[in-house]
Amino acid sequence: MEKVSDLMTSDRRWNANLIWSTFEENIARDILSVHIPIQECEDEFTWIPKKTREFSFKSGYWMAANQKKETIWRPTSKSFWKMWWKVSLPPKVKMFIWKISHNIIPTRENLGKRGICLSSLCNLCNKAPEDMNHLFRFCEISQRVWASSPLGINSAKPQFLSCRDWVFNFIQYCMTQLESNPKLMHNFVATLWAIWLHRNNIIFRGVSVNPKNILELAQLHAAKWEEIQSWKKKSQDSNQNPKITALPVIWKSGNATTYSFESVCVDAAWKERKGKQGENWRAAIAWTTENANLQHIQGSKRIFALTPTQAEGIAVLEALKLAHTDIKNLVIKTDSLQLVKALKNPVNAEEELKHIVKDIFLEARKRDYVVCIKVDRIMVNKAHMLASYCRKQG
Ligand SMILES: [Zn+2]
Repeated sequence: MEKVSDLMTSDRRWNANLIWSTFEENIARDILSVHIPIQECEDEFTWIPKKTREFSFKSGYWMAANQKKETIWRPTSKSFWKMWWKVSLPPKVKMFIWKISHNIIPTRENLGKRGICLSSLCNLCNKAPEDMNHLFRFCEISQRVWASSPLGINSAKPQFLSCRDWVFNFIQYCMTQLESNPKLMHNFVATLWAIWLHRNNIIFRGVSVNPKNILELAQLHAAKWEEIQSWKKKSQDSNQNPKITALPVIWKSGNATTYSFESVCVDAAWKERKGKQGENWRAAIAWTTENANLQHIQGSKRIFALTPTQAEGIAVLEALKLAHTDIKNLVIKTDSLQLVKALKNPVNAEEELKHIVKDIFLEARKRDYVVCIKVDRIMVNKAHMLASYCRKQG
């Protein structure tokens, strides 16, 4: 069932039996209360009126509210995608949603259509052919994931929508809620994304099926996107010209495995001192945590460093060494753009940084996932004060 007309009888009346068996009661009532015009007209994507009833995310049912005169898009609408590319999500994730909306995700079914022969069975359940609708919505594993996700969606409803319309329907709704509730978009997209990643991990990495992993992966991504968005917002707020907002500069190592990840802020205080020989600079580093239960990570010490960036590198290295080995996913925040750039591109790093960068790589590999992010100075303020204080001592 793809079209409204599929819900109608040949004499242009609602097929009540079908509607009652397909939808939840309140939705069925809504549909049946829609007057069918006598004149034949094109199916609209927005055929179901919203009435006074609020959208219920759990029923998986939302159609753009035509009563509010909101702009209504189709998955092919250029103006919609123009806005979409500006949404704060990683480009590959936005591309993924775009591909779903155009039904060009390389599912087994789509690959089969292109003449690539593979078993067509879904890797999650091994029970049904893997097309988009099955993989993302009807597969028993995916249904469990959606139901236990923060959204609590019944992904099998409404049954008549194609996967691309179902996804697009939610995306559209999430777009209208971006300002007031950005988590909605993050959670919805992250769940889709995690199903896809897990499916790929099964095929390409021999991982075994585990709905819990999908949920954890989704939560991790949603949390990460949330954090990126809040940085953007903060830098926007602190910026005179809100239009100039750069994406955060990030270096990462490994892949996140679980939802639990901790973050540490580091900073270095470095000051040139003219005059006395042998003591022409003084440096100290400090590290603090944002997690109340990890206060033991906090500390500072005097160090030797030729440049402020080198000092910052030592701070990151120290944080990596000190954070408890149980922490598999670690986020390190620094205000040194130069250092993050050196991590991203070690070949071009300054001489005095090269060995530190190498050691950071080595230490990072001991954990599943390490991210080093350039943040505003204000965000590492506590570490900054600790380091300054330490530098002045002794
Ligand atoms: Zn399946």
